[in-house]
Amino acid sequence: MTALHPTDHKKAKALKPGSRRPAKELCSECGLCDTYYIHYVKEACAFLNQQFDQLETQTHDRSRNLDNPDELYFGVHQSMTAARKKEPIPGAQWTGIVSTIAIEMLNRGIVEGVVCVQNTKEDRFQPMPIIARTPEEILAARVNKPTLSPNLSVLEQIEQSGMKRLLVIGVGCQIQALRAVEKQLGLEKLYVLGTPCVDNVTRAGLQKFLETTSKSPDTVVHYEFMQDFRVHFKHEDGSVETVPFFGLKTNQLKDVFAPSCMSCFDYVNSLADLVVGYMGATFGWQWIVVRNDRGREMLDLVQDKLELQPVISQGDRHQAVQQSIPAYDKAVTLPMWAAKLMGVVIERIGPKGLEYARFSIDSHFTRNYLYVKRNYLEKLEAHVPEFAKRIVGQYKLPD
Ligand code: FAD
Ligand code: SF4
Repeated sequence: MTALHPTDHKKAKALKPGSRRPAKELCSECGLCDTYYIHYVKEACAFLNQQFDQLETQTHDRSRNLDNPDELYFGVHQSMTAARKKEPIPGAQWTGIVSTIAIEMLNRGIVEGVVCVQNTKEDRFQPMPIIARTPEEILAARVNKPTLSPNLSVLEQIEQSGMKRLLVIGVGCQIQALRAVEKQLGLEKLYVLGTPCVDNVTRAGLQKFLETTSKSPDTVVHYEFMQDFRVHFKHEDGSVETVPFFGLKTNQLKDVFAPSCMSCFDYVNSLADLVVGYMGATFGWQWIVVRNDRGREMLDLVQDKLELQPVISQGDRHQAVQQSIPAYDKAVTLPMWAAKLMGVVIERIGPKGLEYARFSIDSHFTRNYLYVKRNYLEKLEAHVPEFAKRIVGQYKLPD
């Protein structure tokens, strides 16, 4: 990596909305290029310059130990736990641990603002990044906007506001670019609260996904690919519709995921201080990964509001992953009865806890590796990090 020098980035010009970005079709719309920090884009963009080793060392004082099986998969960490709020926040994606930590940090004066993403008035799924300065503004950002979101588009406002202590909530590609420009932001303290992220879509792609998969696309308020191998759609009236993964119309959905997400290997948000997801925990619980001391400090703030339990790991994912590779590749869609049956069987005997997380990582990394190989062969060697090469290397891939 070329070292970033403190130059006068303020002279750089943000790109206009809708204009072509330096990463071209691989752009995840992370927001960096909507600001004068575009000055650093060649080094900072997750899709132009893969640099996990350097950024892990900068953030956690060391890069992940590839010979430690848990670090190979989940990145540098001090601990992993399953947790849920004793009193869940209504309308949050899961139990609202992310929003609760952010509110606590603001209320205690640990930070002056929180970068998070609300939605526009007209469209519950259209992201609207903000710097929240009140608990109400943080609460209004709860629940996933399951679309590419330009969270870093507010970075110029941070420098202009004179804020010195900040919390940023975001997904992997946003946090990679953030870490690369962190030193240029003029902050005294930066905390990063990350979520895992996979298979994201543009707003138009989301519409197609909802219309192909849900019986009532217009009333969906929230959805998640759950540990029971089903997509759970929550509707406006509170009802929950479930669709087995194996019944998804893969042939129609193949192109729905953004090219950035098809070439991403940072599912677990390796550069956040603390990660809150669900995939390493059992059904109904969230999965918490403390990566460093700042992450520990953040989690400690809400310990009394959480029920905690150790993470578990059960089953063996390898066969299921190997079988899913050609099925995805050939866009096989099972009839619904077979998909339901397979869902029930795999839920009973399939991988659970951390093994479910490994199943999901393996399935996505093998798929994404093939995607990069077929579409961006010239990028393959440098773009795929060593940890992902080792994970993918366990499987037999088609050409
Ligand atoms: P809440 O308290 O509801 O807060 C959610 C926070 O997410 C808000 O602060 C908001 O600012 C932020 N946010 C919402 N949408 C976006 C966005 N598009 N980009 C950046 N930030 C956003 N976890 C897994 O374990 N496996 C997965 O495969 C997985 N996929 C995900 C895909 C996406 C697009 C997103 C946004 C999250 C994903 N997660 C995944 C994380 C998980 O769904 C929950 O967000 C997480 O467990 C926190 O839940 P919560 O109830 O504590 O969050
Ligand atoms: Fe710019 Fe972010 Fe797109 Fe890369 S992913 S081109 S940094 S907006």
